[in-house]
Amino acid sequence: MSWFTRKDKGILTPTESKREAPDGLWYQCPSCKKAMHTREHRLFAYTCSNCNYHEKIGSQEYFELLFDQTKYTELDAMLSSGDPLNFVDTKRYPDRIKATEKKTGLKDAVRTAHGKVNDIEIVVSAMDFSFIGGSMGSVVGEKIARGIDYALAHKIPFLMISKSGGARMMEAGFSLMQMAKTSAKLALLAEAGIPYISLLTDPTTGGVTASYAMLGDFNISEPGALIGFAGPRVIRETIGKDLPKGFQSAEFVLEHGFLDFIVDRKDLKDKLSSLLGMLA
Ligand SMILES: [Zn+2]
Repeated sequence: MSWFTRKDKGILTPTESKREAPDGLWYQCPSCKKAMHTREHRLFAYTCSNCNYHEKIGSQEYFELLFDQTKYTELDAMLSSGDPLNFVDTKRYPDRIKATEKKTGLKDAVRTAHGKVNDIEIVVSAMDFSFIGGSMGSVVGEKIARGIDYALAHKIPFLMISKSGGARMMEAGFSLMQMAKTSAKLALLAEAGIPYISLLTDPTTGGVTASYAMLGDFNISEPGALIGFAGPRVIRETIGKDLPKGFQSAEFVLEHGFLDFIVDRKDLKDKLSSLLGMLA
């Protein structure tokens, strides 16, 4: 029996809008429509040379941008999800996991690695939106918790790069438990005086915003990122009022005191290492 059935027909996302880092020779900016060579786009850290639109990228691209000589060691690479609820929607959950693994080459929606950023040892957990909308299930929570354990054991800083639609409904309560688990682990990191930096990227929403993404010693973001808990439609219907312009953009969230600063992805590595240098 299906847990949910889609009532509204015609809600479709074309395959090309689901892609994270586009390949092929040319890249067309979805914001200003300017075309640029993919090599140039990569050199600009996947931002538009014309309007600075930050394309969504995954853990692989962040690891390559951040780690010195792109050298890093991945932690818990083979951890993958069980099916605690025997969940079925349009597909059985294990079949959905298998199909997504095959399509993305990933085991779940987060990858953790340790290495050096401008000679500073660090652990980085980066989320992948291409894996079921970057949803947070038990594997995401467990990998982040283990990444924090590694940072604690080696007394090195922890960087979380969030990109998520929120909790993974196929694991229901098990997903929500990850909020408490990761928050408790981060408290241990804070007690030990080890820096935790949280980078929120487009989009960071739901249970991820409500737990580890907002618990950094520094909460930073990329320009233009959507940051929020519930979506604007739900909020509008709940409060019965129109929302202010730019609501839930990184710039709006910064203005209202929820972020420490916004960092251009091209400067991310240097800003990060100078920040960590000051905290050391
Ligand atoms: Zn552009």
